[in-house]
Amino acid sequence: MTVYSVPLREMRFVLHDVFRAADTLTALPGFSDSTADLMDAVLDECAKLCEGVLLPINQSGDQEGCSFKDGKVTLPKGFTEAYKQYAEGGWCGLTAEPEFGGQGLPETLDYLVNEMIGSANLSLGLYPSLTQGTILALTALGTAEQKSAYLPKMVSGAWQGCMCLTEPHAGSDLGLLRTKAVPNADGSYSITGTKIFISAGEHDMTENHVHLVLARLPDAPEGSRGISMFIVPKYLVNADGSLGARNAFSAGSIEHKMGMKASVTCVMNYDGAKGWLLGQAHKGLAGMFVMMNKERLFVGSQGISVAETAYQSAATYAKDRIQGRAATGPANPDKPADAIIVHPDIRARLLFSRSIVEAVRALSVWTHINVDISHKHPDAARRQHADDLVGLMTPIVKACGTGYGSEVANTCLQVFGGHGYIREHGMEQLVRDVRITEIYEGTNTIQALDLVGRKLGIEGGRLFKAWISEVESSLKRLEGRNDMGEFTGPLKDAVARLQALTMWLTEEGKKDPNGRGAAANDYLRFFGLTVFAWMWVLMIEAALAKTDDAAFTATKLAVGRYYMQRVLPQIASLDAVVRAGSTSIMALAEGAF
Ligand SMILES: Cc1cc2nc3c(=O)[nH]c(=O)nc-3n(C[C@H](O)[C@H](O)[C@H](O)COP(=O)(O)OP(=O)(O)OC[C@H]3O[C@@H](n4cnc5c(N)ncnc54)[C@H](O)[C@@H]3O)c2cc1C
Repeated sequence: MTVYSVPLREMRFVLHDVFRAADTLTALPGFSDSTADLMDAVLDECAKLCEGVLLPINQSGDQEGCSFKDGKVTLPKGFTEAYKQYAEGGWCGLTAEPEFGGQGLPETLDYLVNEMIGSANLSLGLYPSLTQGTILALTALGTAEQKSAYLPKMVSGAWQGCMCLTEPHAGSDLGLLRTKAVPNADGSYSITGTKIFISAGEHDMTENHVHLVLARLPDAPEGSRGISMFIVPKYLVNADGSLGARNAFSAGSIEHKMGMKASVTCVMNYDGAKGWLLGQAHKGLAGMFVMMNKERLFVGSQGISVAETAYQSAATYAKDRIQGRAATGPANPDKPADAIIVHPDIRARLLFSRSIVEAVRALSVWTHINVDISHKHPDAARRQHADDLVGLMTPIVKACGTGYGSEVANTCLQVFGGHGYIREHGMEQLVRDVRITEIYEGTNTIQALDLVGRKLGIEGGRLFKAWISEVESSLKRLEGRNDMGEFTGPLKDAVARLQALTMWLTEEGKKDPNGRGAAANDYLRFFGLTVFAWMWVLMIEAALAKTDDAAFTATKLAVGRYYMQRVLPQIASLDAVVRAGSTSIMALAEGAF
């Protein structure tokens, strides 16, 4: 079994000491109640659910998995009951509008709630997260009638939602999708087609499911500009809100997967199912991005959720497992060997893991504060600035949260040696579970292409400049702080290198059609490591300002130093790799592979 207790202290440090989130959030319209005390109380409550209800069924859920018979999906034991407790606690509607029964709390808080839920039980956490994304899309794009028909039930958790984009021949390239939507006389549409890989497409956890399905109208232009989005409920909803006839779609099968076995993934067949247009015709992909932008940040949090559990488990094991002696002489002469935590390699693995987890958590909290500002700030210019920061950071949070999350899970498995590879300790489940996060919600390569191909180029680098202005203001504030020099120095150097590399890449992209594609993943990593360095500077600044807990401050300094000295320098090799261009990648003829 893995070891996990919710890192409330770390979460509070980031929320209150590093970012003073309550000061920013309570000043936003609608969030005056989101005080530090309230947020702490919410986190405490969720921690109880995670540790007491969700974590205990994580390993059994993996071992039992989901089953499929006669079109019906059965979830592992305890999952429906655990979900009921989650729904009864009001967690589904944490950020939803109060007029639909939601609590109207900040996305910042939702991030931390989701992080701990994912650490406790990644599979279970995916079901409600899809519902939350569906709620967001319906709130943003639905008509008053659609909102009142679906939102209260989804916000309460009585119904769940899912997103139905992928088809056998259309994955990353959704412009290829073929599912059809034909208008009916009553204003509805008949949806026909097959979707694959649909998370939570069918199951017995809730009485109704609301599918958001991408399909093409008969007059649709080709490609991604001809896609519309439809609300397709499993049971039709009568005028009085009661459930009516079963809609004409069903699960054809479920996928047999490497991990996240308790999260069901379905092939869905729509056979003239009744659907209703959500948003404008042919603008469905843009509409789906309302949901996908939230989900991309959510998936980034999934990576770090698993990494936190992996770190806690590995740190506990490393203090217990005895093998070999410390190079400096026996650390525990009374025992036949020392705990493996004496070995530099084991310590380095743990420090790498911790330095990444803490940096990504800080980045995620900062990004979500900006999500809240972008939604609520009364000043349009402030909203735009925050939105720019979120737009730039979304591919980084998604790809670095999951890419490094996966690397951390693997690194921590290694701490267990052979015991990590067998089932008992749960480490192999973490490695299997986290792997999908690098793939779904747009593969990490698609994220990197979004960063270099789209986000960097918006209005002559407006988003990049918005972020640079934030880092420069931190560095200016810390100018002359000798106690921070070992942290601000490497950050300054990394930012200068990133700026130079970004200019190089922009020029290279004009000369070489493969230039951006060849550089994208390594450039994103470089960017991510630089953003993490900034997060470490902010965390060190806050830790040094904390005078009530010397041990906490000393630990932060030690982990931050490790990051600056042993992780950040990787940017030098990434710089060289990016600048190597596409020639060596494209030289080999296709037939030679
Ligand atoms: C467990 C699971 C759950 C999922 N849940 C959902 C869900 O709920 N709803 C839903 O709609 N979908 C879901 N998906 C689908 C998922 O989003 C897709 O698998 C993913 O977007 C990639 O599409 P694909 O698998 O077709 O791969 P492809 O698009 O075929 O990609 C194959 C490889 O080519 C690369 N590639 C593709 N295009 C480019 C390009 N232009 N440039 C460079 N590289 C490229 C990709 O990065 C990848 O490495 C799920 C998938 C899984 C496995």
